[in-house]
Amino acid sequence: MVQRLSSAVMALLEYLVLKMLTGNVKVIEALRQYIVDGLSPSSVADNLGLSKHQVRGYAQRVIEKVGDSRRASMVISKVYDMLIRIEPVIKNYGGRKICVLCGEELRGSGEDHIRKRHYDIVRRYVKLIASVLRMRLREISTHKLTLGTKVTQLSKSLRLYTR
Ligand SMILES: [Zn+2]
Repeated sequence: MVQRLSSAVMALLEYLVLKMLTGNVKVIEALRQYIVDGLSPSSVADNLGLSKHQVRGYAQRVIEKVGDSRRASMVISKVYDMLIRIEPVIKNYGGRKICVLCGEELRGSGEDHIRKRHYDIVRRYVKLIASVLRMRLREISTHKLTLGTKVTQLSKSLRLYTR
């Protein structure tokens, strides 16, 4: 049973949340298409208007965080629907990047700014997504149980047993 997520997985979640908060949804889409769906780097690049080099770079960074692409794929596939609901806090106004939380104009990606000034928001998102991920991973563990245990669990879920 998965009780706690490794610090590597937590680091990956934080990385993904920061991409969304800074309005970099393309990174999340690229990771899904390349690592989860298994599209070629050139297809992903074409789909999203990125270079193949960028696509490979995003994937490499994420895979390095958790150790291998299977684990990265599992995490991303299970948190994707939650990630894409995160509302960016860095908005583009005619080429100017503004943090809607404090009104500051930013240079670069804005990730450093969010990490330094609004880390509580990152932490809240990561915590929420991690708690749902834990539940979803637990379902996988259930499928791996022996058939007998599965039957018992199914019976329980059908309320054939009374306590
Ligand atoms: Zn700010």
